[in-house]
Amino acid sequence: MKIRLQDLAKQYRHTTAVNNLNLEINSGEFLVVLGSSGSGKSTTLNMLAGLEAPTSGYIFFNEHIVNQTPPGKRDIALVFQSYALYPHMKVYDNIAFPLKIRKEKDIHQKVIKTANMLGLSALLQKYPKELSGGEKQRVALARALVRNPQVFLMDEPLSNLDAPLRLSARGELKRLQRKSNITTIYVTHDQTEALTLGDRIAIMDKGALQQIGSPVEIYQKPHNTFVAGFIGTPPMNMAQIRICNSHSFNIGEVTVEFSVLLPNKRDIILGIRPEKLVIVPPNTPFAIPGKIEHIEYLGCESVCHVEITKNITWYVKSDDVGRIKIGDQVGLQFSSEDIHWFDPLMGIRIL
Ligand code: ADP
Repeated sequence: MKIRLQDLAKQYRHTTAVNNLNLEINSGEFLVVLGSSGSGKSTTLNMLAGLEAPTSGYIFFNEHIVNQTPPGKRDIALVFQSYALYPHMKVYDNIAFPLKIRKEKDIHQKVIKTANMLGLSALLQKYPKELSGGEKQRVALARALVRNPQVFLMDEPLSNLDAPLRLSARGELKRLQRKSNITTIYVTHDQTEALTLGDRIAIMDKGALQQIGSPVEIYQKPHNTFVAGFIGTPPMNMAQIRICNSHSFNIGEVTVEFSVLLPNKRDIILGIRPEKLVIVPPNTPFAIPGKIEHIEYLGCESVCHVEITKNITWYVKSDDVGRIKIGDQVGLQFSSEDIHWFDPLMGIRIL
């Protein structure tokens, strides 16, 4: 099923929850809608599900407008954060339920096949209260999958799981979606989920689409400073700089010599990811001088907080901080190819 949103908007009394959203989701695609709380993700999903009516705009399922189609007729399956299993029914009956209410044929075979696919065969005679969080989540997925819907709509379905389980559930979900090839729209505020699950990611902020693209495109070519700061941990370092001449710029009150030609602008935002900065001895040519303020040891790598000027502290990610300690004066070296330039007024990427 191909889905298209055209100028879709939802206005509550004082809030524009979704603002002129235009999106195309390909058949069989796994699209992740990513944004912080209040960005309009759930409202978008609820409009797709038919639980909320759009204020304006259109939702197309395979080129048919479904704005007026009730949820039960949209051939979608919803999976929410709360598993919403029926507590008085065994796993078997929970999975069979959506088939029974639709009076479908071959219910037993369908339940067994889906339970096998999700590794639930041994749990069919248990009640939800006897299951772990991960198992409950798998039953909720099985119940959605058993109907073989045309569209999966998922709203933070893994957020109740603890970290190791979330990791395995992510892998399982991705495999399942590939196998079933059901068009899936998955809402989350978690960028790791978005990067690992999505064929493409749609990033929303304040009800508006900020960028849509593959995880690699979004990471490597953020369209604006919002996306640049939202994706990546720690986030991209950004600072407004003033260009003095073709080979030097001011960052705060510090002047930095630059090895290649700078853009022909006066003020510009320079962005660079923490893993693209290298800590070098102080006074190394073409490096930004700074002072180590803090070092976060994370096992396989460390994140150094480097104060460049009073109001500018940048993060540097490194797998070897060697003998560096807090208070050391250092230089931050980088390659010009790793710089992202943004317009200082609108925050839009300058190519
Ligand atoms: P998200 O899922 O990204 O957290 P939502 O879609 O739930 O965001 O909400 C987007 C905005 O719309 C928020 O400001 C929220 O307060 C508002 N909103 C959501 N539902 C309602 C409602 N039923 N009535 C009024 N405002 C709402």
